[in-house]
Formats: sequence, structure tokens, C-alpha cells
Amino acid sequence: RTLSTAEIREKYLAFFESKGHFRLPSHSIISPDTTTLFTVAGMQPFKPQFLGAAARFPGHEGEHKRITTTQKCVRIDDIENVGRTNRHNSLFEMLGNFSFGDYFKREAITWAWELLTSSEWLALDSSKLYVTVYKDDDEAFGIWTKEVGLPEDHVLRFDADENFWPADAPLKGPNGPCGPCSEIYYDRGPAFGSDTWAEYADTRESNRFLEIWNLVFPQYDRRDLAPDGTPVLADLPFKNIDTGMGLHRVAAILQDVPDFYGIDVFKLLIDKVVELSGRAYEGATSVSHRVIADHVRMVSMSVADGITLSNTGRGYTVRKVLRRASRHAYLLGLREPVLYRLVALVAETMGSAFPEIKTHQAAVEAAIKAEETRFLATLESGTARLDTLLGKIERGGVLSGEDAFTLYDTYGFPLDLTREIAEEFGVTIDEAGFDKSLEAAQERARAGSKYGKSELFGAVSEVLDEVLAANGPTKFVGYEELSVE
Ligand code: ATP
Ligand code: MG
Ligand code: MG
Ligand code: MG
Repeated sequence: RTLSTAEIREKYLAFFESKGHFRLPSHSIISPDTTTLFTVAGMQPFKPQFLGAAARFPGHEGEHKRITTTQKCVRIDDIENVGRTNRHNSLFEMLGNFSFGDYFKREAITWAWELLTSSEWLALDSSKLYVTVYKDDDEAFGIWTKEVGLPEDHVLRFDADENFWPADAPLKGPNGPCGPCSEIYYDRGPAFGSDTWAEYADTRESNRFLEIWNLVFPQYDRRDLAPDGTPVLADLPFKNIDTGMGLHRVAAILQDVPDFYGIDVFKLLIDKVVELSGRAYEGATSVSHRVIADHVRMVSMSVADGITLSNTGRGYTVRKVLRRASRHAYLLGLREPVLYRLVALVAETMGSAFPEIKTHQAAVEAAIKAEETRFLATLESGTARLDTLLGKIERGGVLSGEDAFTLYDTYGFPLDLTREIAEEFGVTIDEAGFDKSLEAAQERARAGSKYGKSELFGAVSEVLDEVLAANGPTKFVGYEELSVE
């Protein structure tokens, strides 16, 4: 029998409970530290513990040096990949087990193997598993090959760009806990690609070998560069374990579907999009179904965690994601707000692990509906205008910076939206020209103001947004790109 996504999640958490771990709820989508806007990994809330703080957690008695969680993570960097690769979502669940100065590599590796391959647990075919280790991590290599018994040709040794977490941390940062890692891949077979594991050493991109789990061994505290420019990796007070497994990637394998969108939780959303739009899930337009299914989860959980759709920072990022989904709904022929009608399905599929989405469902629906209504109006007029402009440009041509700016200025089209639409016509944008027009407009707006620019533009766009909401899309002058990190 096929395991549901909820059952896989529960198996993971129960397995680590059986190994003495304490189950904690997910941290908010809002990052617990200043290195990122959103929580990007399960380890992020535990940085203090890795750095030596007591393993005590508000609301829970006692000390817990072994923790297991499912963390809702958002990676904006992956958004371009959504609906295009078979492995990236904007919001995803990262299952994790953590050790604060308790167990280390041996247990982390052998337990991961047991969970993945034991018939009692996930029962994956062990001959299809491959791993990578950090280039000079002979200890991890030895555990994989001698204790677990993995053939040596199933192991690759990579540099810090792949096998250090955060990637390339010694050189690029951020500061804080970091360490070498070992990653587990699953071979989805020749139907997904004819490449071999040995070739993956050069390509680092594969549809066939799917990365499912990262086992990180944080033992360093990265600090500011030494005066001569070399990064400082101080030893942490003790050695730790931090792992992250992509729930939906494993679900896609266990449910034997090509990508996330065939798994139980996404299929419900995709089917609903088909029902609402009357457009079958097939061919080139199916990317729209996927983008909507993905983005609506991200936006719903963000709003449930208290992020308001706004023109600055995190709220603006969420708003952009919502607008992107809204545009894809438009592409499917939908002219009324519909995304808010998917929230109930998000609550249904995520509510047991993340009850906040149920608690705030009505407020989430209202916020999404209001933004959709507003954006549809601008989209209608902006898309018509852009289509006319693009219709006059041949494939391989360039849309002028001024035209891109007018769309931004008058229709509230973020540059990335214009870029995405232009790409469909094989047209690029004169982005330097766009920047020039933007600067000129900012200069005009700045003149005579006593406020600093971010305050000014934050305030201006909030006010204009209200005007827009009240009067429709006549003149939208939110210089919002400014405040986006
Ligand atoms: P990839 O190389 O596929 O982009 P990653 O190396 O960036 O993944 P990690 O930072 O190692 O990912 O995160 C740990 C695990 O979280 C990954 O092994 C994967 O299973 C999962 N994961 C990472 N990014 C995503 C995403 N955008 N959507 C779904 N799952 C993800
Ligand atoms: Mg990645
Ligand atoms: Mg990777
Ligand atoms: Mg990884």
C-alpha cells in the first residue's frame, strides 16, 4: 500500500521519537534570525542551541538534546524553478532530526539509512540510494561504505559548494553554525534520464538522481573574516547534527509519480484548478496549474503566520508571489478571484501538522481575495498594454526601459512580471533603461521631501495602494522594488 504524505511525515517523526528525540512544532515561516527573510531550513530556530545555549524550549519541560520537527520553509531563490524542475517548491516541509552535542555522524548516518530502507519504515530499495560527502570527510565516507555497506561507486566527494551547509559557508557566510554535510540521493531510473551517477560529478544537475536528504554535521561557528581575508571557522562548543529531508520529494518517490504535483496533497489542488478553470492539466499551460498549486500554499501559510500583504520586505515578497499565481490563473482564462477558494484545501492538507492555517483560514481567504481583486484589475489593463507593445517587437528584440517603466509605474507591473511575459514572446527588456527611468522618477519624488527614501517610498506606496483600492488602477506609483530585499 502506498503511504500518504501525512503518513510519511508521521513515520519520520515517530522514527526519531523511537530514537529518543523530542517532537517540537514547526517554527513560524518568519525567519528566527536576520540572515534571511523567511525560515529556509529546519535548523534555523536551533542556532542558539548549536552555539551552546541550553537545550530548553519555551512551553516544554526539561532539557532536550535530541529534537525532531517538520519545518515549513520558504525559499524565494527557488521560485523560478517552481513548476519547471521536478523538485522545487516555494514553500515546502523539511523534516529534521537535531542533536545538540549529543549523538554525531555515526548515528545520524545509520539512522537515516534505517528509516529509508527498513521494511518497517519507508522501505526504499537500498540499491537505488547514492550519497555525497564533503571532499575530505573520510569519517563519513567510512561510515557509509564500511558500516552501512554502500558500494564505493555510490559515493561522490564534493567541494564546499555542495557538501557544506550553508553552501560555501566558509567563503560566503552567513556567520553562525555550519559544517560539512552528506547528502542522500535516490535514483529514479532511466525513465527520468540516461545520465549515470559518475556523470553527476560533472553535471550537478539531474532529473534522475533526486536529492532527498541532507545530513549536516555542524561543528564550526563561522565568524567575520580575519584581517587578511581568510574566513574564521571557530570550533563550536560541541559537535551537532542537523538534517533536512524534503517531505514532498520522498512522497513523490514513494507514491511513484513524476513530480510533486502528482502526490496526494498537490493533486487535490491541481484537480481544483482544473475544475475552476475548465482547463485540463496537460501541455504547455500545465505550468500554470503547478505554479498556482505551489504559490497558494506559500501565500496561505505566510498570511496565517501573520505576514500582511504590503509594499515592503516580507509582505511585498508574499504579495509578488500571490500576483504571480494570480497571473497564471488569468492565463488559464480565469477573470474572477479564485485563489482564495483553494485555501480550504491547503488547510485540509496541512492543518494537522500546522493548525495555524485552520485557525486563521477565514482571515487568510479574505486577505487573498482582496489582493486578487485588486490585482486582477491592474492585470487586465496592463496585460493588454504589454501584449500590444510586445506584438510590435520581433522575437529576439528588446522592450525599451521606458515602456517597462510605464507598465510598472502606471499598471503596477513588477519588473519580473514584465520580464516573464516578455520571455514568452522571446523578447528581453532594456533593464538599464528601466533603472534610469526609475531613478529619474524617484529623484522627482524625492525633491522637496524631508524623509529618507525608504520611508518615503514605503509611505507613498501604502497611500497609493489605498487610493488604488478605492479608485481603481488609474495611476499606480508604488516604487516598491526599492524595499525588496
Ligand atoms: P537542491 O539542490 O535540490 O536545490 P538543496 O541542496 O538546496 O536542494 P538543502 O538546503 O540541502 O537543499 O535542503 C535539505 C532538503 O530540503 C533537500 O535535500 C530537499 O529534499 C529539500 N528541499 C530543498 N529545497 C527545496 C525546495 N525548494 N522544494 C522542496 N524541497 C526542497
Ligand atoms: Mg537548492
Ligand atoms: Mg543540493
Ligand atoms: Mg542539499
